[in-house]
Amino acid sequence: MTEKILQHKHCSICGKAIPVDETFCSDECKEKWGAMVKKRKMMMYIMYGMIAVFIVLILFGGGL
Ligand SMILES: [Zn+2]
Repeated sequence: MTEKILQHKHCSICGKAIPVDETFCSDECKEKWGAMVKKRKMMMYIMYGMIAVFIVLILFGGGL
């Protein structure tokens, strides 16, 4: 009756209430998060790659 969740947070994916020591409510949300992080990382790598190509183009294109 007097049971009360003093501390809790919400799942980063679906917003469900979960214990503080948990990050996601289920493996499904964990997977979704993983896929999102992977996608973000990939985008960052692509951006870095583009910047690298751009620098190479400037160095070799402008120098010659
Ligand atoms: Zn969730």
